[in-house]
Amino acid sequence: MRVFIGLGSNLENPEQQIKTAVNDMGSLSESKLIACSSLYSSPPMGPQDQPDYINAVIELETTLLPHVLLDELQNIEQQHGRVRKRHWGERTLDLDILVYGDKLLNDKRLIVPHPGVAERAFVLYPLAELALDLVIPILGKVEPLLAHCPMGELRKLGAIKL
Ligand code: ATP
Ligand code: CA
Ligand code: CA
Repeated sequence: MRVFIGLGSNLENPEQQIKTAVNDMGSLSESKLIACSSLYSSPPMGPQDQPDYINAVIELETTLLPHVLLDELQNIEQQHGRVRKRHWGERTLDLDILVYGDKLLNDKRLIVPHPGVAERAFVLYPLAELALDLVIPILGKVEPLLAHCPMGELRKLGAIKL
């Protein structure tokens, strides 16, 4: 299945956190890393008294089932020392399943496509870099979504060196 995962970090050398997380996901079983967007920086959502974020999106080809993939991503977040404090608060690593092929999921643990995809510039612009023609369930094609989502303070930083 063709899967897109959003990455974010704003603690403990965010750029390094993102790079190692990309490598970690590339090493998952039944999975192959297909592509990685540039790195971006974005101001925080929610509480404003926290550092800016570094964001990226990757494409993964995987046969891991959605909830198994979520388990694996949460393991990686844990390995990166993620501590849950306040809602939308600072974190060493956040990994969200943005799109899982053409699947629509909505249960206690997993909402796919991720509800933030169309509204969050730090998700949509790196995703568009990888897959402008991607058709997302419910939302449709990526390219037209950009028109409704201003870049705002999102900044493209450059290619990731793995
Ligand atoms: P947001 O989901 O708005 O970006 P967040 O990333 O800060 O907020 P977390 O605290 O990382 O939220 O995750 C809370 C829960 O969201 C997770 O335990 C997970 O079960 C659930 N969740 C639902 N849908 C998804 C998804 N598509 N990808 C990752 N986690 C998801
Ligand atoms: Ca998130
Ligand atoms: Ca998350």
